[in-house]
Amino acid sequence: MNFDRSSELYREALDLMPGGVNSPVRAMGSIGRAPIFVASGEGCRVTDVDGNEYIDWICSWGPLILGHADPGVAAAIAAAAARGTSFGTATEGEVELAGEIGDRFPSVEMVRMVNSGTEATMSALRLARAATGRERVVKFAGAYHGHVDGLLAEAGSGLATQGIPASPGVPRAHAEATAVVPWNDFVAVEQAVDAYEPAAIVCEPIAANMGVVPPRDGFLEHLRSLADSCGALLVCDEVITGFRVARGGAQELFGVRADLTVMGKVVGGGLPAAAYGGRRELLERVAPAGDVYQAGTLSGNPLAVAAGLATLRRLDAAAYARIGAATERLAAGLAAAAADAGAGSRVSVASAPGLVTPFFAARPPRDFAAARGCDLDSFGRFCREMLERGVMPPPSQFEAWFVSLAHDDESIDRTCEAAAESFRAALR
Ligand SMILES: *Cc1c(COP(=O)(O)O)cnc(C)c1O
Repeated sequence: MNFDRSSELYREALDLMPGGVNSPVRAMGSIGRAPIFVASGEGCRVTDVDGNEYIDWICSWGPLILGHADPGVAAAIAAAAARGTSFGTATEGEVELAGEIGDRFPSVEMVRMVNSGTEATMSALRLARAATGRERVVKFAGAYHGHVDGLLAEAGSGLATQGIPASPGVPRAHAEATAVVPWNDFVAVEQAVDAYEPAAIVCEPIAANMGVVPPRDGFLEHLRSLADSCGALLVCDEVITGFRVARGGAQELFGVRADLTVMGKVVGGGLPAAAYGGRRELLERVAPAGDVYQAGTLSGNPLAVAAGLATLRRLDAAAYARIGAATERLAAGLAAAAADAGAGSRVSVASAPGLVTPFFAARPPRDFAAARGCDLDSFGRFCREMLERGVMPPPSQFEAWFVSLAHDDESIDRTCEAAAESFRAALR
């Protein structure tokens, strides 16, 4: 494979953009290589600027549940664009999309559209603080909720810990208003809630930004009852899980009802859109119905709304059955590939519908500390070997592989064949 044009663009980009990219993981630095510049995609495949083709498991990090350049979505965007790209007024499509969202999430009686998952979590927290009159929040180590200041907090020491800034530029006061506890730790979260009396417990109901780490039995129910008993709101960040793990997201899968739900990725069908929603009396606090300010020039953008509607309307029961089956085929195939390569004791595969992570660890992690203990060097080699074989995995051990409706049996089987060779090469 040659990467001449990608290398050339990377050199130019390094001079013009920080790290040569507009979002850090794209730099592929954590797997020890330079970024690949993608030129086009179709179905489950992407082609880079040097003409190399890959089976894509990044799928834009989740939005493309129908695959790349889906003709129905493309037509909906083109038709919307022909009518005008943005008005800054109310439009019909927004009402339709809000209805489609509410139809899928019984806990979402009202919804506000925004432009990114970051903006959605930021706004949901403002609302949670306003509604409870409290300032502090509890989050889980290894959970990602966008680059909101207060949520870019790392765990300090101890079980129920006050956060410390995870990045320069995050005010200490913002990080300190966040308690960071280990995911799946029943006792730690209880202690944090007791000690902090938070406005909100914020979770990814299936953690998918430390690799896929599902909740232990009863953990989400535990969060629900802790929130109820201390007067905090349960905020489910379903930016990844929403419209993916089930029609009604992780809340449907686990039968847990959030007070506020954060959505993104699939809801925009590959265009920038996100949303937050929840109980009516909470959302009625948002301006102009209420006093909690939040606004956006491009919020509910007609193109994004058209792409989101075209995507959601294709996700019927049959679609979720197919995604579930494809996920199982991929997860089982990767596990078999590791066993074939004699790496069965060094690789374990975790999954949830539409999400898969091969962890370079003997057992699937239950929390971030365990995920961080994975053999990251071997993971990096594995990814580089996969790319050489025409398969593009997410270039980080802490990201999920995204299954789409465009991943057919052939692409999954080819991926698993490449994986067997890549495990062998990476773990030699
Ligand atoms: C991607 C993601 C976000 C942030 O969304 P952006 O659109 O990238 O700002 C928030 N929460 C979760 C769980 C995510 O995976």
